[in-house]
Amino acid sequence: TGVERHPVPPRTSQVPEATTTLIEALRWHARIHPDRVHLRILTGDEQELVSYGDLWRDATAAAAGLLAHDLRPGDAAAIMLPTGRAYFSTFAGVLLAGGVPAPIYPPTRPAQLEAHLRRQVGILDNAQARVLVSDPQAARLARLVRSQAETVRHVLTPEQLTGPGEAVAAARHPDDLALLQYTSGSTGDPKGVMLTHQHLLANIRAMGKTAAVSSQDVFVSWLPLYHDMGLIGAWLATMYFGVPLAVMSPLDFLTRPDRWLWALHTYRGTLSAAPNFAYELCLRKTTDAELEGLDLSSVRMLCNGAEPVQPDTLVRFAERFASYGLRREALAPVYGLAESCVGLAFPPIGRGPVVDRVKRDAFLRSGRAAPAAAGDPDALRFAACGRAIPGHQIRVVDPAGNPLADRREGRIEFRGPSATGGYFRDPTATRALVRRGWLDTGDLGYLDGGELYVTGRIKDLIIRAGRNLHPEELESAVGDLPGIRAGRVAVFATSGRDTTERLVVLAETRQTERDRLADLRGRITEVSVDLLGTPPDDIVLAPPGTVLKTSSGKIRRGATREHYERGRGEHRPPVWWQLARFA
Ligand code: ATP
Ligand code: MG
Repeated sequence: TGVERHPVPPRTSQVPEATTTLIEALRWHARIHPDRVHLRILTGDEQELVSYGDLWRDATAAAAGLLAHDLRPGDAAAIMLPTGRAYFSTFAGVLLAGGVPAPIYPPTRPAQLEAHLRRQVGILDNAQARVLVSDPQAARLARLVRSQAETVRHVLTPEQLTGPGEAVAAARHPDDLALLQYTSGSTGDPKGVMLTHQHLLANIRAMGKTAAVSSQDVFVSWLPLYHDMGLIGAWLATMYFGVPLAVMSPLDFLTRPDRWLWALHTYRGTLSAAPNFAYELCLRKTTDAELEGLDLSSVRMLCNGAEPVQPDTLVRFAERFASYGLRREALAPVYGLAESCVGLAFPPIGRGPVVDRVKRDAFLRSGRAAPAAAGDPDALRFAACGRAIPGHQIRVVDPAGNPLADRREGRIEFRGPSATGGYFRDPTATRALVRRGWLDTGDLGYLDGGELYVTGRIKDLIIRAGRNLHPEELESAVGDLPGIRAGRVAVFATSGRDTTERLVVLAETRQTERDRLADLRGRITEVSVDLLGTPPDDIVLAPPGTVLKTSSGKIRRGATREHYERGRGEHRPPVWWQLARFA
């Protein structure tokens, strides 16, 4: 059909290899090719182009404005802005002024402002942010902030952040903090990962090397800019490599997932990344009519990470989009975490997804990932997430910290130049993170010849009758039942009257009729017996919004369990992520 396509970007010969801070990298591009398009900000049918020169000018103005509001070197500045030009200039402006950006999830509806802020106060307090830059209703926000977050002196809009010229650039050291990246809060309260210029550049360079990124690439992203995958993986990395970034807001994607695919088509996207749920959303929410004429043959790497990768999703996505020119080899399950900036393991480029099948019983009883026989219907499946990026190491250890042999499940640890020094103002959590030079990811998995398979999170693991139960598989199977909301199921254990753990399945449904609900319970019991060999001790069928998620869309099993323990899942916690309304 008639969607006009843009030409392939011109090559640039170099990247700012010798730079040691993000600011130098931006300045390098702004000097060498000020007119090169850096950002293509897509809103509905409109787009705004931002060149390197534009961003540098915007950033210097913002930096001057911040300094005029007493931002001192090393101070955190909280940024609570939606995807838009102001986000990028504020972030770069904070760095230029010598501050430390602390991005925070922006409110999506003005009515939610107060409740929203209450959830972010923990982050504002931890960061000891002196400045908060926010857009909608800054005055109202300022009043609320003053009563809730003590360190914040100024609540500013991006418009207030202007001032003259280049003179402001503060000298920064590679070891200075360049970002407080708050974790998603899947397993507890978000923690402020301290990342320096050096960490970020090391991670960007290592990811770029494994993915063979060049200035001929085009990145397309709808990922939120307060989360590491959208902020570092999509934006800061493309900024460094001189790769144009076509970027839209998460809400635009969630309301119309085909916008992401069409942006890949229109701008001849070569790279993109998203969590597994986004691929599911594309499968479920796009019609063939909407996709008529779509051409995804330009795409060479489509990363799937930030949450468990479902082998089924990979298969179905590859099948459905093959007819739109998508090469199966482009699908790349990846693994990472904020403590490693963003990326930690990548598969070799162009390999395509690899799925391991292991014998269920041996794995659940003893953590041995023995390859399953070809026709074994009970086999567990895990997507290969690749190997450690250059300069980094991954190992799997037992509870005592001893490295395990290949194909033995244990705790995933890592080290390397992207590894954070710890959590901001949280020595207890930092001590738990770093052990003898290795960082504990909190994840479980196994290695095979350097290839990483992620099997779950330690905190979510349920141990029952000597077997390890991973909630993900049951959640996904229950979510597939007609009548249950896909992606809106939490499986967790709660302690019973004696010491054994009780297995709880909490699933969202819009059904209200008794017979239908009884029927659903029966189906859930069957699925649980099939997969885990045991029925759940309790099944809660609850209205939409009961299963708690992080702002990046991950299930918060621990927090959901707490709600369950307090009110048996009857009360309805706030919905954090608009996904609840669309997915
Ligand atoms: P918190 O640390 O606050 O509980 P979080 O760990 O979800 O939140 P992030 O740093 O955003 O915060 O996410 C990293 C986590 O995401 C990893 O530790 C892992 O649990 C999960 N993850 C990332 N990639 C994958 C993957 N390919 N497969 C399975 N899980 C993944
Ligand atoms: Mg984490």
